[in-house]
Order: sequence, then C-alpha cells, then structure tokens
Amino acid sequence: MLPSTIAIDGPAASGKSTIGAAVAEKLGYLYFDTGVMYRAVTCVALFRSIPIENENAVTALAENAQIDFLKPTANDGRQYTILADGKDITWDIRSRAVDANVSLVSAYAGVRRAMTQQQRRIGLQGRVVMVGRDIGTVVLPEADLKIYLDASEEERARRRHRERVARGEPVEFEVVRQEIRKRDQIDSSRAVAPLKQADDAIYLDSTGQDVPDVIVRVMQLIDAQRRK
Ligand code: C5P
Repeated sequence: MLPSTIAIDGPAASGKSTIGAAVAEKLGYLYFDTGVMYRAVTCVALFRSIPIENENAVTALAENAQIDFLKPTANDGRQYTILADGKDITWDIRSRAVDANVSLVSAYAGVRRAMTQQQRRIGLQGRVVMVGRDIGTVVLPEADLKIYLDASEEERARRRHRERVARGEPVEFEVVRQEIRKRDQIDSSRAVAPLKQADDAIYLDSTGQDVPDVIVRVMQLIDAQRRK
C-alpha cells in the first residue's frame, strides 16, 4: 500500500525541507515542516523581548501565540507563509538570531508538548510528509515510512552558507559550520525527544548527491513500500 504518513528526520541542512516538499508535491500530500513551528515561537519571543532562558514565559508563548500557516502569499521562493499576530514572519524565522536560539526553545518540555500535540493531530489525518527531528521517534512513531536523511557536516554547512550568501547575508563559511555544529549538538543531546534515527527508519546519506537524485531515491523507497 502507498505509505500515507511519511516521516523525514535528520540534522540541520540535510535537505529535509527541499526533499520533503518535492516528494509531497509528487504524491499530492500535505508537506509539513515542523521546524517552522519551533522557529516561529523563537521568532515571536525575540520580537517581544522575552528572555529565551525564561522557560515559563517561552512555554506560555508556545501555548498561546497566534501563529498561522498559510499557502504562499508572495512569489519570492517561499514554500508557505507564516503569520504571527497577523504579521508576516516567513523570512524572519530564517534569521541568524532565530538559528542561534531555536535549539534552546525546542529543548523545553512544555514547548515540545504544545507543538507535538498539534503536529500529531495533523499527521494522523494521513497523506502527509512531515519533516523534523523527532517525527519517526515521537510525533508519529506509527508512520508508514520513516527516512533519516543525513549528509556530512561539511556539505550541510556548504549548502546553508550558499543559501545565506544568495539571500544577501555575507557570512564566513566557518561561522556557518560552527553554528550548525552547535545546533546539532544541542538537538541531539536534549533530554526530551532528541534528534536520533528511529530503529525502523531507513538511513539515506545525501553527501555528494544532488537534489533530483535524492528525490528519486525517496520515490523508490515509497514505491517499494507500495508493492509490499
Ligand atoms: O528543521 P529546522 O532547522 O528548521 O529546525 C529548527 C530547529 O527546530 C531545530 O534545530 C530543532 O531545535 C527544532 N526542531 C525540533 N523538532 C522538530 C523540528 C525542529 O526540535 N521536529
């Protein structure tokens, strides 16, 4: 049977969003990037000058903030539009300030509880490609197909560096590499729902592969599952 719930987890800049969105489009499924939720909470906390170390305040924000996910409302390369309190924060959630703080926010148990509940509700409706860090392990452990998408740290840093430069943000490659290393380290070592490969996930290494090749590999896995 065609897998209805597809979970893609992996470290920062491993290509999850690009691959997840493309596969969802091919299948006519919903594409759901769960990292956006943690980024949106972090972004709003920074806008409101809520100290990121204040776990109670950040958790209350995660429970109550009005964050909306819409189809793209502008033709500027975005995959979706994110509104917080009515303001378009689609690009703000990709800022370096958010990158630097999101792993602290996403380590808070209360924040994860609030996010995971919403993610699970959407995932259980099926026909979804959900990407994140803990989809196969915590959010949708019953997913029909689980993929752990990886790439070498060097290559992931190169991809993220290229994106930043293309967006007009001059930054040293080495700085980007350090930022990615730090985020992965916090994400993999946190107490609640750390980044890790589910026992029944298929490991895909995209180092040295271009995007179309990885999409083909994922579609082959989906097809193999369908034939079972
Ligand atoms: O995938 P992305 O890099 O946009 O995710 C941003 C951050 O959100 C991650 O570094 C991680 O701290 C957090 N995250 C998470 N669980 C998920 C998705 C993202 O903790 N399922």
